[in-house]
Amino acid sequence: MSPVRVRFAPSPTGSLHVGGARTALFNWLFARHHGGAFVLRIDDTDTDRSSESALEQILSSLRWLGLDWDEGPDVGGPYGPYRQTERLALYREAAEKLLDEGRAYRCYCTPEELAAQREEARRQGRPTTYDGRCARLSRAKQLELEAQGRRPAIRLKADRREPVVLHDRVRGEVVFQPEVLEDLVIVKSNGYPTYNFACVVDDHQMAITHVIRAEEHLSNTPKQVLVYEALGYPLPEFAHVPMILAPDRSKLSKRHGATSVEEYREEGFLPEALVNYLALLGWSPGGEEEFLTSQEMIDRFSLERVSKNPAIYDQKKIAWMNGHYLTRADLDRVARLALPFFVEMGLVAPGNEQKEWERVREVVGLVRDRVKTLKEVAEAGTYFFRSDFTYEPQGVAKHFAVPGRADLLTRVGERLAELERFDAESVEHACRSLADELGVKAAAIIHCLRLALTGRTMGPGLFDIVAALGKAATLERVQRAVEYVRSLPQSVS
Ligand code: GLU
Repeated sequence: MSPVRVRFAPSPTGSLHVGGARTALFNWLFARHHGGAFVLRIDDTDTDRSSESALEQILSSLRWLGLDWDEGPDVGGPYGPYRQTERLALYREAAEKLLDEGRAYRCYCTPEELAAQREEARRQGRPTTYDGRCARLSRAKQLELEAQGRRPAIRLKADRREPVVLHDRVRGEVVFQPEVLEDLVIVKSNGYPTYNFACVVDDHQMAITHVIRAEEHLSNTPKQVLVYEALGYPLPEFAHVPMILAPDRSKLSKRHGATSVEEYREEGFLPEALVNYLALLGWSPGGEEEFLTSQEMIDRFSLERVSKNPAIYDQKKIAWMNGHYLTRADLDRVARLALPFFVEMGLVAPGNEQKEWERVREVVGLVRDRVKTLKEVAEAGTYFFRSDFTYEPQGVAKHFAVPGRADLLTRVGERLAELERFDAESVEHACRSLADELGVKAAAIIHCLRLALTGRTMGPGLFDIVAALGKAATLERVQRAVEYVRSLPQSVS
Protein backbone atom coordinates (compact mmCIF):
# COMPACT_ATOMS: atom_id res chain seq x y z
CA MET A 1 0.00 0.00 0.00
CA SER A 2 1.20 3.49 -0.73
CA PRO A 3 2.18 5.58 2.27
CA VAL A 4 -0.64 7.55 3.85
CA ARG A 5 -0.88 11.13 2.63
CA VAL A 6 -3.65 13.39 3.83
CA ARG A 7 -4.28 17.09 3.46
CA PHE A 8 -6.00 19.95 5.14
CA ALA A 9 -7.14 22.47 2.56
CA PRO A 10 -8.48 25.65 4.14
CA SER A 11 -9.74 28.59 2.13
CA PRO A 12 -8.10 31.70 3.60
CA THR A 13 -11.29 33.70 3.83
CA GLY A 14 -11.43 34.09 7.62
CA SER A 15 -10.00 32.78 10.82
CA LEU A 16 -9.68 29.09 11.62
CA HIS A 17 -12.89 27.90 13.20
CA VAL A 18 -13.29 25.02 15.56
CA GLY A 19 -14.84 22.91 12.77
CA GLY A 20 -11.85 23.49 10.50
CA ALA A 21 -9.47 22.90 13.37
CA ARG A 22 -11.18 19.59 14.13
CA THR A 23 -10.83 18.55 10.46
CA ALA A 24 -7.16 19.51 10.53
CA LEU A 25 -6.69 17.60 13.76
CA PHE A 26 -8.28 14.39 12.47
CA ASN A 27 -6.09 14.55 9.38
CA TRP A 28 -3.02 15.19 11.51
CA LEU A 29 -3.83 12.35 13.91
CA PHE A 30 -4.44 9.99 11.02
CA ALA A 31 -1.17 10.93 9.32
CA ARG A 32 0.85 10.66 12.53
CA HIS A 33 -0.79 7.36 13.47
CA HIS A 34 0.20 5.85 10.14
CA GLY A 35 3.57 7.54 9.92
CA GLY A 36 2.32 9.32 6.80
CA ALA A 37 2.42 12.90 5.55
CA PHE A 38 0.15 15.75 6.61
CA VAL A 39 -0.06 18.26 3.78
CA LEU A 40 -1.31 21.81 4.08
CA ARG A 41 -2.84 23.13 0.88
CA ILE A 42 -4.33 26.55 0.50
CA ASP A 43 -7.54 26.74 -1.50
CA ASP A 44 -7.27 30.40 -2.42
CA THR A 45 -8.90 30.54 -5.83
CA ASP A 46 -11.74 32.66 -4.50
CA THR A 47 -9.57 35.73 -4.89
CA ASP A 48 -12.32 38.15 -3.86
CA ARG A 49 -12.68 36.58 -0.44
CA SER A 50 -9.15 35.30 0.21
CA SER A 51 -6.59 37.39 2.03
CA GLU A 52 -3.00 37.11 3.17
CA SER A 53 -3.93 38.12 6.69
CA ALA A 54 -6.49 35.32 6.95
CA LEU A 55 -3.87 32.89 5.67
CA GLU A 56 -1.36 34.08 8.25
CA GLN A 57 -3.93 33.71 10.98
CA ILE A 58 -4.86 30.18 9.94
CA LEU A 59 -1.20 29.15 9.90
CA SER A 60 -0.63 30.73 13.27
CA SER A 61 -3.69 28.99 14.77
CA LEU A 62 -2.52 25.62 13.42
CA ARG A 63 0.95 26.19 14.83
CA TRP A 64 -0.47 27.21 18.17
CA LEU A 65 -2.48 23.98 18.26
CA GLY A 66 0.71 22.08 17.52
CA LEU A 67 -0.58 20.62 14.25
CA ASP A 68 2.64 20.68 12.28
CA TRP A 69 2.54 19.97 8.55
CA ASP A 70 5.13 18.12 6.50
CA GLU A 71 4.44 19.94 3.26
CA GLY A 72 2.81 23.28 2.68
CA PRO A 73 3.14 26.78 1.30
CA ASP A 74 5.78 27.89 3.79
CA VAL A 75 7.82 24.68 4.07
CA GLY A 76 7.51 23.51 0.46
CA GLY A 77 7.67 19.85 -0.46
CA PRO A 78 7.90 17.54 -3.46
CA TYR A 79 4.33 18.13 -4.67
CA GLY A 80 4.22 21.92 -4.64
CA PRO A 81 3.28 24.59 -5.13
CA TYR A 82 0.78 24.33 -2.28
CA ARG A 83 -1.36 27.34 -3.06
CA GLN A 84 -4.01 26.84 -5.68
CA THR A 85 -3.46 30.26 -7.22
CA GLU A 86 0.08 29.08 -8.04
CA ARG A 87 -1.23 25.94 -9.72
CA LEU A 88 -3.49 27.50 -12.36
CA ALA A 89 -1.43 26.11 -15.25
CA LEU A 90 -1.95 22.59 -13.90
CA TYR A 91 -5.73 22.97 -13.86
CA ARG A 92 -5.67 24.52 -17.31
CA GLU A 93 -3.66 21.56 -18.60
CA ALA A 94 -6.07 19.04 -17.07
CA ALA A 95 -9.06 20.92 -18.51
CA GLU A 96 -7.44 21.05 -21.99
CA LYS A 97 -6.95 17.31 -21.85
CA LEU A 98 -10.64 16.79 -21.11
CA LEU A 99 -11.58 19.16 -23.96
CA ASP A 100 -9.30 17.32 -26.36
CA GLU A 101 -10.81 14.00 -25.38
CA GLY A 102 -14.33 15.29 -25.78
CA ARG A 103 -15.07 14.81 -22.08
CA ALA A 104 -15.60 18.49 -21.54
CA TYR A 105 -16.92 21.36 -23.61
CA ARG A 106 -16.98 25.11 -23.68
CA CYS A 107 -20.11 26.73 -22.37
CA TYR A 108 -20.93 30.29 -23.44
CA CYS A 109 -24.11 30.75 -21.45
CA THR A 110 -24.13 33.89 -19.33
CA PRO A 111 -25.40 33.85 -15.72
CA GLU A 112 -28.56 35.62 -16.90
CA GLU A 113 -29.18 33.03 -19.61
CA LEU A 114 -28.61 30.22 -17.15
CA ALA A 115 -31.11 31.76 -14.75
CA ALA A 116 -33.65 32.08 -17.56
CA GLN A 117 -33.09 28.46 -18.60
CA ARG A 118 -33.68 27.30 -15.05
CA GLU A 119 -36.82 29.34 -14.81
CA GLU A 120 -38.12 27.92 -18.07
CA ALA A 121 -37.36 24.36 -16.91
CA ARG A 122 -39.15 25.01 -13.64
CA ARG A 123 -42.19 26.28 -15.53
CA GLN A 124 -42.25 23.17 -17.67
CA GLY A 125 -41.67 20.88 -14.71
CA ARG A 126 -38.30 19.66 -16.03
CA PRO A 127 -35.13 19.23 -13.91
CA THR A 128 -33.35 22.55 -13.51
CA THR A 129 -29.90 21.08 -14.10
CA TYR A 130 -28.00 22.44 -17.07
CA ASP A 131 -29.37 20.92 -20.28
CA GLY A 132 -26.02 20.66 -22.06
CA ARG A 133 -26.99 22.90 -24.97
CA CYS A 134 -23.45 24.29 -25.46
CA ALA A 135 -22.11 20.76 -25.93
CA ARG A 136 -23.75 20.83 -29.33
CA LEU A 137 -22.33 24.11 -30.59
CA SER A 138 -20.42 23.98 -33.84
CA ARG A 139 -16.91 25.43 -33.96
CA ALA A 140 -18.23 28.22 -36.18
CA LYS A 141 -20.85 29.15 -33.60
CA GLN A 142 -18.26 29.08 -30.84
CA LEU A 143 -16.05 31.46 -32.79
CA GLU A 144 -18.98 33.73 -33.43
CA LEU A 145 -19.80 33.90 -29.74
CA GLU A 146 -16.18 34.54 -28.90
CA ALA A 147 -16.09 37.30 -31.47
CA GLN A 148 -18.98 38.88 -29.55
CA GLY A 149 -16.64 39.00 -26.57
CA ARG A 150 -18.07 36.01 -24.70
CA ARG A 151 -15.55 34.07 -22.65
CA PRO A 152 -16.46 30.44 -22.21
CA ALA A 153 -16.55 28.40 -19.06
CA ILE A 154 -15.59 24.74 -19.35
CA ARG A 155 -18.07 22.07 -18.36
CA LEU A 156 -17.52 18.41 -17.73
CA LYS A 157 -19.84 16.07 -19.63
CA ALA A 158 -21.62 14.19 -16.89
CA ASP A 159 -23.48 11.73 -19.09
CA ARG A 160 -24.01 9.28 -16.34
CA ARG A 161 -26.97 6.96 -16.03
CA GLU A 162 -26.02 4.87 -13.00
CA PRO A 163 -25.79 6.11 -9.43
CA VAL A 164 -22.45 7.03 -7.92
CA VAL A 165 -21.75 4.69 -5.03
CA LEU A 166 -19.31 5.97 -2.49
CA HIS A 167 -17.67 3.80 0.18
CA ASP A 168 -17.06 6.39 2.79
CA ARG A 169 -14.80 5.35 5.67
CA VAL A 170 -17.09 7.04 8.17
CA ARG A 171 -20.50 7.00 6.57
CA GLY A 172 -20.36 3.61 4.91
CA GLU A 173 -22.00 3.19 1.51
CA VAL A 174 -23.55 6.39 0.22
CA VAL A 175 -25.51 6.33 -3.01
CA PHE A 176 -26.05 9.41 -5.18
CA GLN A 177 -28.65 9.21 -7.91
CA PRO A 178 -27.52 10.42 -11.35
CA GLU A 179 -30.18 13.13 -11.39
CA VAL A 180 -28.13 15.18 -8.99
CA LEU A 181 -25.26 15.25 -11.44
CA GLU A 182 -25.17 17.86 -14.10
CA ASP A 183 -22.50 19.00 -16.50
CA LEU A 184 -20.56 20.80 -13.87
CA VAL A 185 -18.43 23.83 -14.55
CA ILE A 186 -14.79 22.91 -13.99
CA VAL A 187 -13.22 26.16 -15.18
CA LYS A 188 -15.05 29.45 -14.84
CA SER A 189 -15.16 32.03 -17.60
CA ASN A 190 -12.50 34.02 -15.73
CA GLY A 191 -10.10 31.11 -16.17
CA TYR A 192 -10.18 30.01 -12.54
CA PRO A 193 -10.98 26.40 -11.71
CA THR A 194 -13.99 25.56 -9.57
CA TYR A 195 -13.46 23.98 -6.17
CA ASN A 196 -14.63 20.53 -7.32
CA PHE A 197 -12.15 20.50 -10.18
CA ALA A 198 -9.09 22.01 -8.51
CA CYS A 199 -9.58 19.79 -5.49
CA VAL A 200 -9.47 16.62 -7.59
CA VAL A 201 -6.51 17.69 -9.69
CA ASP A 202 -4.61 18.60 -6.54
CA ASP A 203 -5.57 15.59 -4.48
CA HIS A 204 -4.44 13.36 -7.31
CA GLN A 205 -1.27 15.24 -8.17
CA MET A 206 -0.34 15.51 -4.50
CA ALA A 207 -0.81 11.74 -4.16
CA ILE A 208 -3.39 12.13 -1.43
CA THR A 209 -4.53 8.70 -0.25
CA HIS A 210 -7.32 9.72 2.14
CA VAL A 211 -9.60 12.72 1.82
CA ILE A 212 -10.78 13.42 5.36
CA ARG A 213 -13.06 16.43 5.47
CA ALA A 214 -16.24 17.91 6.83
CA GLU A 215 -19.58 16.29 6.11
CA GLU A 216 -20.77 19.44 4.35
CA HIS A 217 -18.60 18.34 1.43
CA LEU A 218 -20.32 14.98 1.07
CA SER A 219 -22.65 16.39 -1.58
CA ASN A 220 -19.62 17.56 -3.58
CA THR A 221 -18.09 14.13 -3.60
CA PRO A 222 -20.14 12.55 -6.42
CA LYS A 223 -19.22 15.52 -8.62
CA GLN A 224 -15.59 14.98 -7.75
CA VAL A 225 -15.94 11.27 -8.48
CA LEU A 226 -17.01 12.19 -12.02
CA VAL A 227 -13.95 14.38 -12.38
CA TYR A 228 -11.70 11.55 -11.15
CA GLU A 229 -13.29 9.19 -13.65
CA ALA A 230 -13.06 11.65 -16.54
CA LEU A 231 -9.39 12.30 -15.85
CA GLY A 232 -8.71 8.59 -15.42
CA TYR A 233 -7.47 9.05 -11.85
CA PRO A 234 -7.97 6.35 -9.22
CA LEU A 235 -10.22 7.38 -6.35
CA PRO A 236 -8.70 8.11 -2.96
CA GLU A 237 -10.45 6.91 0.18
CA PHE A 238 -13.06 9.34 1.47
CA ALA A 239 -13.99 9.98 5.09
CA HIS A 240 -16.55 12.64 5.91
CA VAL A 241 -16.42 13.63 9.53
CA PRO A 242 -19.65 14.54 11.30
CA MET A 243 -21.06 17.99 11.68
CA ILE A 244 -20.54 20.02 14.80
CA LEU A 245 -23.78 21.43 16.18
CA ALA A 246 -24.69 23.77 19.00
CA PRO A 247 -26.44 22.24 22.04
CA ASP A 248 -29.82 23.23 20.55
CA ARG A 249 -28.76 21.26 17.44
CA SER A 250 -28.64 24.37 15.29
CA LYS A 251 -25.61 25.28 13.23
CA LEU A 252 -22.79 26.41 15.51
CA SER A 253 -22.44 30.17 15.28
CA LYS A 254 -21.14 33.25 17.05
CA ARG A 255 -24.15 33.46 19.29
CA HIS A 256 -23.10 30.18 20.91
CA GLY A 257 -19.83 31.71 22.09
CA ALA A 258 -16.28 31.53 20.79
CA THR A 259 -15.97 29.64 17.53
CA SER A 260 -12.52 30.54 16.25
CA VAL A 261 -9.25 29.13 17.52
CA GLU A 262 -7.93 32.66 17.83
CA GLU A 263 -10.72 33.58 20.25
CA TYR A 264 -9.87 30.63 22.47
CA ARG A 265 -6.27 31.68 22.48
CA GLU A 266 -7.23 35.23 23.38
CA GLU A 267 -9.49 34.00 26.17
CA GLY A 268 -6.57 32.10 27.65
CA PHE A 269 -7.18 28.49 26.71
CA LEU A 270 -4.28 26.09 26.56
CA PRO A 271 -3.76 24.52 23.15
CA GLU A 272 -3.63 21.00 24.56
CA ALA A 273 -7.08 21.50 26.14
CA LEU A 274 -8.58 22.65 22.86
CA VAL A 275 -6.92 19.82 20.94
CA ASN A 276 -8.13 17.26 23.47
CA TYR A 277 -11.66 18.63 23.35
CA LEU A 278 -11.77 18.85 19.54
CA ALA A 279 -10.50 15.29 19.21
CA LEU A 280 -13.54 14.06 21.10
CA LEU A 281 -15.92 15.88 18.76
CA GLY A 282 -16.95 12.91 16.71
CA TRP A 283 -14.13 10.56 17.64
CA SER A 284 -14.22 8.21 20.55
CA PRO A 285 -10.93 6.88 21.86
CA GLY A 286 -12.67 3.92 23.47
CA GLY A 287 -12.74 3.51 27.22
CA GLU A 288 -13.73 6.05 29.82
CA GLU A 289 -10.65 8.22 29.80
CA GLU A 290 -11.32 11.66 28.32
CA PHE A 291 -8.00 13.33 29.01
CA LEU A 292 -5.48 12.25 26.44
CA THR A 293 -2.07 13.49 25.46
CA SER A 294 -1.36 14.07 21.78
CA GLN A 295 0.68 10.90 21.71
CA GLU A 296 -2.17 8.87 23.20
CA MET A 297 -4.54 10.30 20.61
CA ILE A 298 -2.10 9.50 17.83
CA ASP A 299 -1.70 5.94 19.09
CA ARG A 300 -5.42 5.34 19.31
CA PHE A 301 -6.79 7.30 16.36
CA SER A 302 -8.73 5.42 13.71
CA LEU A 303 -11.45 6.38 11.24
CA GLU A 304 -13.46 3.39 12.41
CA ARG A 305 -14.05 5.14 15.70
CA VAL A 306 -15.28 8.33 14.08
CA SER A 307 -19.03 8.62 14.45
CA LYS A 308 -21.57 9.43 11.75
CA ASN A 309 -23.71 11.34 14.22
CA PRO A 310 -23.34 15.06 14.66
CA ALA A 311 -21.13 16.14 17.53
CA ILE A 312 -22.54 18.61 20.03
CA TYR A 313 -20.33 21.51 20.94
CA ASP A 314 -20.36 22.22 24.64
CA GLN A 315 -18.68 25.44 25.78
CA LYS A 316 -18.94 24.40 29.42
CA LYS A 317 -17.12 21.18 28.82
CA ILE A 318 -14.30 22.80 26.93
CA ALA A 319 -13.87 25.34 29.76
CA TRP A 320 -13.90 22.52 32.30
CA MET A 321 -11.25 20.65 30.33
CA ASN A 322 -9.16 23.78 30.15
CA GLY A 323 -9.43 24.14 33.91
CA HIS A 324 -8.15 20.60 34.27
CA TYR A 325 -5.10 21.30 32.11
CA LEU A 326 -4.50 24.65 33.76
CA THR A 327 -4.24 23.03 37.17
CA ARG A 328 -1.97 20.22 36.09
CA ALA A 329 0.37 21.84 33.59
CA ASP A 330 3.85 22.86 34.63
CA LEU A 331 3.53 25.97 36.82
CA ASP A 332 6.34 27.88 35.10
CA ARG A 333 4.68 27.34 31.76
CA VAL A 334 1.23 28.40 32.95
CA ALA A 335 2.70 31.49 34.59
CA ARG A 336 4.62 32.33 31.42
CA LEU A 337 1.42 31.99 29.37
CA ALA A 338 -0.59 33.96 31.94
CA LEU A 339 1.88 36.85 32.11
CA PRO A 340 0.56 38.67 29.01
CA PHE A 341 -2.92 38.60 30.56
CA PHE A 342 -1.59 40.31 33.68
CA VAL A 343 -0.01 42.93 31.43
CA GLU A 344 -3.17 43.33 29.39
CA MET A 345 -5.18 43.89 32.56
CA GLY A 346 -2.76 46.54 33.71
CA LEU A 347 -1.59 44.49 36.71
CA VAL A 348 1.97 44.27 35.45
CA ALA A 349 3.39 47.27 33.63
CA PRO A 350 4.79 46.52 30.17
CA GLY A 351 8.54 46.10 30.54
CA ASN A 352 8.22 44.91 34.15
CA GLU A 353 7.58 41.29 33.26
CA GLN A 354 11.00 40.17 34.41
CA LYS A 355 10.77 42.03 37.69
CA GLU A 356 7.29 40.77 38.50
CA TRP A 357 7.92 37.22 37.38
CA GLU A 358 8.26 35.60 40.80
CA ARG A 359 5.16 37.31 42.06
CA VAL A 360 3.09 36.37 39.03
CA ARG A 361 4.27 32.81 39.38
CA GLU A 362 3.26 32.71 43.04
CA VAL A 363 -0.16 34.22 42.33
CA VAL A 364 -0.79 31.84 39.43
CA GLY A 365 0.08 28.95 41.73
CA LEU A 366 -2.47 30.18 44.26
CA VAL A 367 -5.41 30.82 41.96
CA ARG A 368 -5.09 28.47 39.03
CA ASP A 369 -7.10 25.58 40.43
CA ARG A 370 -10.09 27.84 40.99
CA VAL A 371 -10.50 29.18 37.44
CA LYS A 372 -10.96 27.98 33.87
CA THR A 373 -8.81 30.23 31.70
CA LEU A 374 -5.59 32.22 31.80
CA LYS A 375 -7.66 35.37 31.58
CA GLU A 376 -9.54 34.29 34.69
CA VAL A 377 -6.21 33.55 36.35
CA ALA A 378 -5.26 37.20 35.92
CA GLU A 379 -8.72 38.36 37.03
CA ALA A 380 -8.58 36.16 40.10
CA GLY A 381 -5.14 37.54 40.87
CA THR A 382 -6.09 41.21 40.58
CA TYR A 383 -6.01 42.02 44.29
CA PHE A 384 -2.45 40.82 44.63
CA PHE A 385 -1.44 43.73 42.44
CA ARG A 386 -3.96 46.40 43.31
CA SER A 387 -5.41 47.54 46.59
CA ASP A 388 -8.05 49.90 45.18
CA PHE A 389 -10.72 47.20 45.04
CA THR A 390 -14.17 47.59 46.54
CA TYR A 391 -15.58 45.14 49.08
CA GLU A 392 -18.24 42.66 47.99
CA PRO A 393 -21.55 43.97 49.40
CA GLN A 394 -22.73 40.59 50.74
CA GLY A 395 -19.35 40.20 52.42
CA VAL A 396 -19.66 43.61 53.99
CA ALA A 397 -23.13 42.77 55.33
CA LYS A 398 -21.94 39.47 56.72
CA HIS A 399 -18.44 40.13 57.97
CA PHE A 400 -17.92 43.87 58.37
CA ALA A 401 -21.29 45.23 59.48
CA VAL A 402 -21.06 43.40 62.76
CA PRO A 403 -20.56 45.10 66.14
CA GLY A 404 -16.95 45.03 67.29
CA ARG A 405 -15.48 44.23 63.89
CA ALA A 406 -13.37 47.35 63.59
CA ASP A 407 -11.76 46.55 66.92
CA LEU A 408 -11.25 42.94 65.96
CA LEU A 409 -9.51 43.95 62.75
CA THR A 410 -7.39 46.42 64.65
CA ARG A 411 -6.24 43.65 66.98
CA VAL A 412 -5.48 41.40 64.03
CA GLY A 413 -3.43 44.16 62.47
CA GLU A 414 -1.49 44.72 65.69
CA ARG A 415 -0.78 41.03 66.07
CA LEU A 416 0.41 40.66 62.50
CA ALA A 417 2.58 43.74 62.88
CA GLU A 418 4.47 41.98 65.65
CA LEU A 419 5.39 39.00 63.50
CA GLU A 420 9.03 38.59 62.59
CA ARG A 421 8.41 35.84 60.11
CA PHE A 422 5.59 36.48 57.69
CA ASP A 423 4.95 33.08 56.15
CA ALA A 424 1.59 31.31 55.93
CA GLU A 425 2.30 29.18 58.98
CA SER A 426 3.25 32.03 61.29
CA VAL A 427 0.29 34.11 60.14
CA GLU A 428 -2.08 31.23 60.74
CA HIS A 429 -0.65 30.61 64.19
CA ALA A 430 -0.97 34.29 65.07
CA CYS A 431 -4.58 34.47 63.92
CA ARG A 432 -5.64 31.31 65.72
CA SER A 433 -4.03 32.19 69.01
CA LEU A 434 -5.53 35.67 68.87
CA ALA A 435 -8.97 34.08 68.32
CA ASP A 436 -8.42 31.91 71.42
CA GLU A 437 -7.31 34.86 73.50
CA LEU A 438 -10.31 36.94 72.45
CA GLY A 439 -12.75 34.07 72.73
CA VAL A 440 -13.93 34.45 69.13
CA LYS A 441 -14.11 31.86 66.41
CA ALA A 442 -11.04 31.69 64.15
CA ALA A 443 -13.50 31.73 61.25
CA ALA A 444 -14.61 35.22 62.21
CA ILE A 445 -11.06 36.50 61.88
CA ILE A 446 -10.46 34.56 58.72
CA HIS A 447 -13.58 35.84 56.91
CA CYS A 448 -13.03 39.36 58.02
CA LEU A 449 -9.39 39.39 57.09
CA ARG A 450 -10.07 37.85 53.69
CA LEU A 451 -12.55 40.58 52.89
CA ALA A 452 -10.14 43.23 54.13
CA LEU A 453 -7.26 41.92 52.02
CA THR A 454 -9.06 40.91 48.84
CA GLY A 455 -12.48 42.55 48.84
CA ARG A 456 -13.89 39.08 48.20
CA THR A 457 -15.48 36.35 50.27
CA MET A 458 -13.88 33.47 48.44
CA GLY A 459 -10.49 32.65 47.08
CA PRO A 460 -7.36 30.67 47.77
CA GLY A 461 -6.26 29.80 51.32
CA LEU A 462 -6.22 33.01 53.35
CA PHE A 463 -2.85 32.46 55.00
CA ASP A 464 -1.23 31.91 51.61
CA ILE A 465 -2.75 35.18 50.46
CA VAL A 466 -1.39 37.02 53.48
CA ALA A 467 2.06 35.60 52.96
CA ALA A 468 1.99 36.43 49.25
CA LEU A 469 0.90 40.01 49.92
CA GLY A 470 3.68 40.53 52.45
CA LYS A 471 3.60 42.46 55.67
CA ALA A 472 3.46 46.04 54.46
CA ALA A 473 0.56 45.52 52.04
CA THR A 474 -1.32 43.39 54.55
CA LEU A 475 -1.11 45.97 57.32
CA GLU A 476 -2.02 48.76 54.99
CA ARG A 477 -5.11 46.91 53.78
CA VAL A 478 -6.14 46.00 57.31
CA GLN A 479 -5.89 49.68 58.23
CA ARG A 480 -7.97 50.66 55.22
CA ALA A 481 -10.61 48.10 56.22
CA VAL A 482 -10.70 49.33 59.80
CA GLU A 483 -11.45 52.83 58.58
CA TYR A 484 -14.06 51.50 56.19
CA VAL A 485 -15.78 49.44 58.90
CA ARG A 486 -15.81 52.43 61.24
CA SER A 487 -17.55 54.42 58.54
CA LEU A 488 -20.39 51.89 58.37
CA PRO A 489 -23.57 52.95 60.22
CA GLN A 490 -24.15 49.37 61.49
CA SER A 491 -20.83 49.12 63.27
CA VAL A 492 -21.38 52.06 65.60
CA SER A 493 -22.78 50.04 68.48
N1 GLU B 1 -11.29 24.56 0.76
C1 GLU B 1 -12.30 23.61 1.13
C2 GLU B 1 -12.88 24.04 2.46
O1 GLU B 1 -12.27 24.82 3.15
C3 GLU B 1 -11.68 22.24 1.21
C4 GLU B 1 -12.65 21.14 1.25
C5 GLU B 1 -11.98 19.81 1.08
O2 GLU B 1 -11.34 19.38 2.06
O3 GLU B 1 -12.05 19.23 0.02
O4 GLU B 1 -13.95 23.66 2.84
